[in-house]
Amino acid sequence: MSQPVTMDKIVAFCKRRGFVYQSSEIYGGIRSSYDYGPLGVEMKRNIKEEWWRRTVHMRDDVVGLDSAIIMHPKVWDASGHTATFNDMLVESRTSGRRYRADHLIEDATGRDDVEGLSAEELTEIIQTDERVKDPVDGGRDFAPVRPFNLMFETYTGPVKGPENVAYLRPETAQGIFVNFKNVLQTSRVKVPFGIAQVGKSFRNEITPGNFIFRTREFEQMEMEFFVEPGTDAEWHEYWLAERWNWYTDLGMNTENLRFYEHPKDKLSHYSKRTVDVEYNFPFRGWSELEGIANRTDFDLKQHTAFSGENLTYFDQAAGNSYVPYVIEPAAGPDRIMLAFLVDAYAEEEVRGEKRTVLKLHPRLAPIKAAVFPLTKKEPVASVARELYDELKGDYRIFYDDSGAIGRRYRRQDEAGTPFCITVDFDTLDDKQVTIRDRDTLEQERVPLADVRDRLRALISG
Ligand code: ATP
Repeated sequence: MSQPVTMDKIVAFCKRRGFVYQSSEIYGGIRSSYDYGPLGVEMKRNIKEEWWRRTVHMRDDVVGLDSAIIMHPKVWDASGHTATFNDMLVESRTSGRRYRADHLIEDATGRDDVEGLSAEELTEIIQTDERVKDPVDGGRDFAPVRPFNLMFETYTGPVKGPENVAYLRPETAQGIFVNFKNVLQTSRVKVPFGIAQVGKSFRNEITPGNFIFRTREFEQMEMEFFVEPGTDAEWHEYWLAERWNWYTDLGMNTENLRFYEHPKDKLSHYSKRTVDVEYNFPFRGWSELEGIANRTDFDLKQHTAFSGENLTYFDQAAGNSYVPYVIEPAAGPDRIMLAFLVDAYAEEEVRGEKRTVLKLHPRLAPIKAAVFPLTKKEPVASVARELYDELKGDYRIFYDDSGAIGRRYRRQDEAGTPFCITVDFDTLDDKQVTIRDRDTLEQERVPLADVRDRLRALISG
């Protein structure tokens, strides 16, 4: 067994292998912004595609949507974001640093009951509990805690006045609610049904950190599933199971995965029940990957009140109207990618040799297969090249003819490539190639003509 991976190791690995880079690095970098490199972009796309495939394509009761990032500012009044999308901010007068008050207290005291407390309550704790100190200089002179709105403000058009204020969306969900009627009228869906969306969201987090776990610009994969009131509790259970299975079907270790039930008195203003899917990161413990909330009819009712549009649903079969309840699985592909990387990363000894390997599910692996000619010489090289050309339209395939075969394997192990296909001298006679499995290291001979089908079967496995 290898040691649990540290954050430093993952960050260095991600940079070295082209998964994730610090943004604007040649200028010294910018805090909390990251760029996905050649392997990282493939892996994140795979996560989003797997989510879309399972949530939209494999079902007949969910449709997709891609709504704008900049929406009418009233949307955020209706949703409650302008009034309540706040974190509690505290400024240290000794260092001038700003912290999230709840995190500062939690880190200093180990308390786990402070999230959701009011500014006054947090101020009281900070003033009286001697253990709460500025982590930078140990100072205990803090300004009163105040709410800080996390939405990024901008202006539309050339005039920077209050009448032109707009926001970068802090969640993708509202784009779905405001299109509820459009989708109903144009796509023949009937309750129960869902609308899914994947896209960027923005939150001006006070303390971003832990690499791509918490950033100010990130992606979300959200689905609003509209149900008849009274059936909501059952549908919530259904989606909890669906989402759990998504992670485990993609190979996530169940020991590192759990549900966390939000206590009733800590629920968001719109929620009747929220359950998070959490991952046990070795460097920060159990942390949220996804929240699955019963948002009731809150959002549709709010948008009805603020827009004047009737957002009720008419059930033709039953002949009655109602405002649907909503079950929302809301996940973050950046965080999920970090979890899958950590889960898959291993340093191990194989036949006396050390190797670093990413044991990613083939569906998530950035490169599905590598094709190696044993030699650069003809005709082996052109047989390999032909095979590569045949396969590359289906998936990301890598062609590598440089260096010893062992080194080529090790490079692909690190990239998480599940299958390496070698064309050797025997191939010229028997028209077969060797497929080597990244995890078992087993090799099978497969006829050249069958490689494409065999690979498809292995990947969807
Ligand atoms: P947290 O408590 O960690 O701030 P949250 O409960 O505010 O998260 P939600 O509003 O439920 O998060 O958003 C749904 C998902 O979006 C989260 O589970 C997470 O995967 C992702 N997400 C939210 N904020 C961020 C962020 N700052 N950086 C990366 N991903 C995020």
